[in-house]
Amino acid sequence: MSGTASAFETIHIRSVPDTMADSDCLPNADRRSPPHPRPFPREGGREKCFGAWMRVAILPVTLMAIVLSGSVNASLADENHPAVLVLRDATIFDSAAGKMLPHRTVVIAGDVIEAIGTPEQPAKIPPKARTIDCSGRYVIPGLIDAHVHLVHLADRTHVTGDEYLPLFLAAGVTSVRSTGDAIVAEAGVDRFSRAHPDRSPRVFLCSPLIDGATPVHKDVGWPLVDVAQVPGFVDDMAAWNVTTLKIYVGTPRTIGRSVIELGHRRGMIVTGHLGLYSAQDAVEDGIDCLEHIWSVFNYSIPGEVAGKPNHRADLDLQNPRCQALVTQIAKSPTVVDPTLVVFRNMIYLHDLPEVQEDPDLKLVPARMKRYWDAYRDRSKLMPETRDARQREIAKYQELTGILHRAGVPLLAGTDAPEPYVTPGFSLHQELELLVGSGLSPSAALQAATLNNARLLKQEEKLGRIEKGMTADLVILRTNPLDDIRRTRDIESVVRGGLVVSPSDLLRLVPKE
Ligand SMILES: [Zn+2]
Repeated sequence: MSGTASAFETIHIRSVPDTMADSDCLPNADRRSPPHPRPFPREGGREKCFGAWMRVAILPVTLMAIVLSGSVNASLADENHPAVLVLRDATIFDSAAGKMLPHRTVVIAGDVIEAIGTPEQPAKIPPKARTIDCSGRYVIPGLIDAHVHLVHLADRTHVTGDEYLPLFLAAGVTSVRSTGDAIVAEAGVDRFSRAHPDRSPRVFLCSPLIDGATPVHKDVGWPLVDVAQVPGFVDDMAAWNVTTLKIYVGTPRTIGRSVIELGHRRGMIVTGHLGLYSAQDAVEDGIDCLEHIWSVFNYSIPGEVAGKPNHRADLDLQNPRCQALVTQIAKSPTVVDPTLVVFRNMIYLHDLPEVQEDPDLKLVPARMKRYWDAYRDRSKLMPETRDARQREIAKYQELTGILHRAGVPLLAGTDAPEPYVTPGFSLHQELELLVGSGLSPSAALQAATLNNARLLKQEEKLGRIEKGMTADLVILRTNPLDDIRRTRDIESVVRGGLVVSPSDLLRLVPKE
């Protein structure tokens, strides 16, 4: 059993830096002006800073070329983007109430929902509107993935943003929240998305990963070692129109507290994949979001059991330390983004047949899959540790359910494109895992729509089907409240009033 435990711990420790390179980016959907690069750090040497920028600036060159060449299919866009689009007699998901409303007619003018008609109060329909008969169909708000990485993970697989963005939209994911990347490259992906709304989700940008003196991730980490560096960093992020600042594992409380305070002053959201900075301290200091269930679980372990064999797999979540932390979070404005799917598919259980044989894996370019398989082969998960690994994932789900029942708002995020976390489609797996954790299908859908939009400060535009909201919608053939897996039963996706079909989008993703 000691061999088992040590193999498990090895995976545990190594996989934190190698795979959980998060960055939170909250892009501003309203931004119209392009980001303007400014030298990043004021302290610590211009040369170091410039060198880092040069490294991160190389990748987006290809992307920029694609953006500038312009490849929107104009005829497709015109036909599917009428001045007025009407979804007639749909059953729509009211994400605020968490229930379905039958016989609604959604009138979309341009990219905005102009009216919602009912049998009692029919909406006015202009004569030249394009009408889609939605009787027997279920319309939900466009899904939002609260945790993705736009560049550095794809970079490792030699896949560029333009090649995998269609996967999100094909899965009904109309917005993605970056959780950390090199800002220049991220901004390039964002520009591609704006130029190609027929194949891209909306992008919300994030800072690089704020870390200690030696960042865990050399490609996307940014060291902040003195509180005097924080104002300059926050100013630069604001100049890039970043929505989210992300604190990473090497950030101590002194720096983290300053990032939260100054970030809030600039209207930004501060999130954390915590390490040195405890959840108890970060919540007390007013952090907006905790990334990964680890950022709660790791601070719920009593000192007397820490380090014992399989203590994580066997943790009693009723222990006083865990209960006190859950209560503290529930009383605070902090929300939690569990990202259960990355723990199962990538870190702990990629040796399960259901992960390896998942049909979603066939959707990504072969380059990406080859990198994922190389990661799997390096990881060498041991069969004899599988039982403990499965029990640990079950604990993560149990804690997710405890947080939900305590009233902590949960987000739905994935960490795509980490290995075996398929862009877009992994969000449907996350929804299943949330339901498996005790959320109702309605609550899971609320997490992926309303809660994610609220965290992004987009609740007046995204996440609900109401008059005045942006027309990001997914038309389903069956009712997802009967079975959450039906969120995959997509007939078409509406992105800002533009109708796109999943099969057309999947054809845009290279096979090789
Ligand atoms: Zn991440």
